[in-house]
Amino acid sequence: MSGAYPRIDPHVHCRDWEQAYKATISSVMGLAASQGVSAVFDMPNTNPSIISLGLAKRRIETARQEGISGGYYLYLGVTGSAAQAAEAVSAHDSLPEVIGLKMFAGKSVGNLTVEESAQRTVYRSLAEIGYRGVLAVHCEKESLSMMRLWDQTDPKSWNAARPPFMEVEAVNEQILYAKEERFKGILHICHISVPEAVEAVHAARREIRITCGATPHHLMLSTADMDGLEGLRYKVNPPLREPLMASRLFEMLHDGMIDWIETDHAPHSPAEKALSELGEPMSGIPSLAGYAQFISNLQRSGFGEELIRSLTYLNIKRAFAKVTE
Ligand SMILES: [Zn+2]
Repeated sequence: MSGAYPRIDPHVHCRDWEQAYKATISSVMGLAASQGVSAVFDMPNTNPSIISLGLAKRRIETARQEGISGGYYLYLGVTGSAAQAAEAVSAHDSLPEVIGLKMFAGKSVGNLTVEESAQRTVYRSLAEIGYRGVLAVHCEKESLSMMRLWDQTDPKSWNAARPPFMEVEAVNEQILYAKEERFKGILHICHISVPEAVEAVHAARREIRITCGATPHHLMLSTADMDGLEGLRYKVNPPLREPLMASRLFEMLHDGMIDWIETDHAPHSPAEKALSELGEPMSGIPSLAGYAQFISNLQRSGFGEELIRSLTYLNIKRAFAKVTE
């Protein structure tokens, strides 16, 4: 066993602000520390969404007021507007805490979805500005969803309503846009869940700068864990997949085809996750709470220390040159 070294979770939702009842920056940083994680990258689908230089500064100030002195970084959201992309890049270039940009190419929690017709524009704008940082993308092609197959009383039907090919098609499109618009940054595919999408990323590595990350829940859990109403706690975007797909994803992690682990830690209140007349049970799992346990699982499954260090630190540090941990 090697000695202690930093671990980074490059995908968490700290909530805070209007959603402080779910979590705060300081509560998520505290949880991270308890799990052996020294730095987190916060996602911008907060309320309000972090899409301007002013809001990025306000967010960093919130962290400071909560007593956070290091290890906190954030993404700025992109909206599809060229002017906003320029502002996002200037925030990235001027604020050390702004670690990258995030595009929701698919609907999830919050209202930051970039319409399919505007997604290519994001690559064009960033290429014109000469942005060389990370563009992290949530890949689910919304026009391919089959929401009529969603039955809240049968939680695993979420995988049928938001099927694997939604993700695969979105990944293929983002790769195409990055190539055709001559994007110079790193295209990062967030929370990859489908082996075919991992293969698409792998093939694209020859032509563009591209990475992908997987979550502990997509690697360790599957639709088989979603029986009964209890299964609603595992409703997440993209959905948990069939057991064979999840085990293949795990093999791909072991084979080095996935760049890093990202938890997509996404806390909600218990009432928001439950079936109720109030509306749709929300998507998201507080996966950071099981991080240390997950690392033990990897060790028990034959992952060597070098590989674990790459997946939890070195590969992340290589892509995000700004991180100081
Ligand atoms: Zn997320």
